[in-house]
Amino acid sequence: MLLFDAHRHLPDTGARSPEELRVICGTCEADWEAVLAHAASGPEIIPMLGLHPWFVAAAAAGWEARLDALLRAHRAGVGECGLDFAREAADRPAQEHAFRIQLRLAHALHRPVAIHAVRAWGRLLDLLQEEGVPPAGALVHAFSGSPETAAALQVMGVFLSFSAEGLGPTRTKIHETLRTVPSSHLLLETDGIGDLERVITVAAAHRGVAAEDLAARTWKNGLRCFKGLMA
Ligand SMILES: [Zn+2]
Repeated sequence: MLLFDAHRHLPDTGARSPEELRVICGTCEADWEAVLAHAASGPEIIPMLGLHPWFVAAAAAGWEARLDALLRAHRAGVGECGLDFAREAADRPAQEHAFRIQLRLAHALHRPVAIHAVRAWGRLLDLLQEEGVPPAGALVHAFSGSPETAAALQVMGVFLSFSAEGLGPTRTKIHETLRTVPSSHLLLETDGIGDLERVITVAAAHRGVAAEDLAARTWKNGLRCFKGLMA
């Protein structure tokens, strides 16, 4: 089975094979070099460098210039970045500013972008409309929004990735959304938890398709979404 894991983090453990591609996202400046070093260990690792909304407040001044320089020097995408308004204390303007900077980097350098979005769907759509969806590829990982939000993103060309956690037995709203996403814009991920074959099997059961077919489809979609980074 071809396996495309659209979202993971370090530490990235477990056996690797040429039939499994893994997108590894950095979340703060402290892990950018480690993600690049890990990607140098094999072509099946797709590196992404970004500032996650949880780490915006703690980012050291000048992070934008250092991220820009690293991205220019390496074949890596932008992310994970985005908006997370679930926490009461979230500094929304600061998150939006950091997200805009990273969307602009993805445009300027023609790189794909990995987006984290939680309870911020309206603003996510606003910012993507204002900045434009980076043409080299974009996905929202661990998608937890409504079918309507999924449809709005898909029309803009954004891929929707569903995670092991989101496919858990109690997440019935996410299962409902999963059934509505067109196969052309669907991705699957472990988010570092569990194994991808299990995610594919569960997602295939919800969609009423064969696991092998869904694996092949999400592999092709992954190559499309991240085409700018493929060797
Ligand atoms: Zn993540």
